[in-house]
Amino acid sequence: MAMRVLILAGTAQATALAGALAGDPRFQATASLAGRTARPAPLPLPTRIGGFGGVAGLAAWLREAGVAAVVDATHPFAARISAHAEQACRATGVPLAVLGRPAWEAGPGDDWRPVDDMEAAAARLADWRGCVFLTIGRQELAPFAALAAARPDLPFLVRTVDPPEALPSGATLILDRGPYTVDGELDLMRRHAVSVVVSKNSGGTATAAKLAAARVLGLPVVMVRRPPPGTAPVFTEGAAVVDWLARVAATGHD
Ligand code: NAP
Repeated sequence: MAMRVLILAGTAQATALAGALAGDPRFQATASLAGRTARPAPLPLPTRIGGFGGVAGLAAWLREAGVAAVVDATHPFAARISAHAEQACRATGVPLAVLGRPAWEAGPGDDWRPVDDMEAAAARLADWRGCVFLTIGRQELAPFAALAAARPDLPFLVRTVDPPEALPSGATLILDRGPYTVDGELDLMRRHAVSVVVSKNSGGTATAAKLAAARVLGLPVVMVRRPPPGTAPVFTEGAAVVDWLARVAATGHD
């Protein structure tokens, strides 16, 4: 009988893993999305959408669906669902693995200013002059909305997939979805006279072009560090996750 698997999705890596599991008769996998994106890219697996209702809700879902393994393939900054997955899997005894990606690392020519969170990123820019390019998604713009209120002279360029609720006043908004190219990013940054880039250290290739463009233009990047990892095994390749799932299917544990 095929093993029931839950994939916590919402990333390109999760979509690729879903593609690998879709045609594999060993597994009967379901993907889960938070429902944040209005028109998410379709997944090649049965997909449920919306929160589970905290740790208890997720644990109940795992029991009811008879899930035998969970893969947390969410974004490295989606810390709450990852913590919930750890707790729910511990409570139910369901093995958990993480499909992640290495953090980006600064190389020669990079001028990165690491910070711990968005409040610290905004604080670093309190006296900044020139256009601030916010490429941090739409959910954590509040500290920059506060900065814009205190500094009405500071121009902001904001790029998100869906429209944000709290856009810094006077900001220019671009709605777009990666992957991006270095040429495209160079063009965008030049057109808007960007003078600093604010980014999460998401890792991966889909949005890395902004970092190469910043390097070419000699621009600093305020880089928000990742939240601390959990304790589940981390794989960076979908194929390794499939091997892990096969081990769980054969032995009942990881
Ligand atoms: P989060 O803060 O870690 O989670 C907030 C709540 O959203 C969770 O407690 C859970 O609700 C629900 N949730 C999150 N991911 C879910 C999933 N895959 N399936 C079902 N429920 C989920 O998450 P977030 O940062 O808002 O991210 C939401 C989604 O967007 C994730 O799937 C993530 O992969 C994706 N994403 C996030 C970022 C980012 O920078 N944070 C970037 C790109 C994509 P309940 O407690 O009710 O279960």
